[in-house]
Amino acid sequence: NYRCRSAFKLLEIDNKHQVLCPGFSVLDCGAAPGAWSQVAVQRVNALGTDASAPVGFVLGVDLLRIAPLEGAVFLSNADVTDPSTLNKIQEMLPSGKADVILSDMAPNATGIQELDHDKLINLCLSVLDMSSNILQPGGIMLCKFWNGRDAQLLQSRLMEHFCNVRTIKPQASRKESAESYYLARGYRKTVKN
Ligand code: SAM
Repeated sequence: NYRCRSAFKLLEIDNKHQVLCPGFSVLDCGAAPGAWSQVAVQRVNALGTDASAPVGFVLGVDLLRIAPLEGAVFLSNADVTDPSTLNKIQEMLPSGKADVILSDMAPNATGIQELDHDKLINLCLSVLDMSSNILQPGGIMLCKFWNGRDAQLLQSRLMEHFCNVRTIKPQASRKESAESYYLARGYRKTVKN
């Protein structure tokens, strides 16, 4: 039983694109109520359910309180864009590093489409900034965005830092028409000139 239907989006993306492997350390941004973290716990083997596979780790962060989940560690009431949150995340991640950063974050929608779009792009950009401190070389970032004028800008920023960036529109999110995900693979810290 998943806490939210959004679980099916991540399951679909992971089934198709293999984002979460056993043994991976995952940072889940905007984790409340915790459905993506539930999927991540299973897929990275955070509970060690599969004794033959490496054991992973899941850290979820949200502005809201996230109810406890076996196999995951949560940082509730924390703003991902706040610099003090970065320090806490680094302390909580094993060796301070993640193999995958997920962001299903969404700002409180104002209803003004352009403004909401801007806010979400900025959330994604702050996750990208955070990557330089916590994402392993070769790591993966998956982030939700709403279509709009700055989607291209986010995509080019991602392409500066990742070998491969693709746009994903999961079947499970077809109802939310303006919503898509960028899946960025092969993190490199330094920008190629
Ligand atoms: N993936 C989650 C799941 O499957 O349960 C659902 C995430 S929900 C669509 C978006 C979440 O992003 C909300 O819980 C919201 O509080 C969180 N959020 C928005 N802005 C944030 C920020 N600056 N820092 C941390 N979380 C944020």
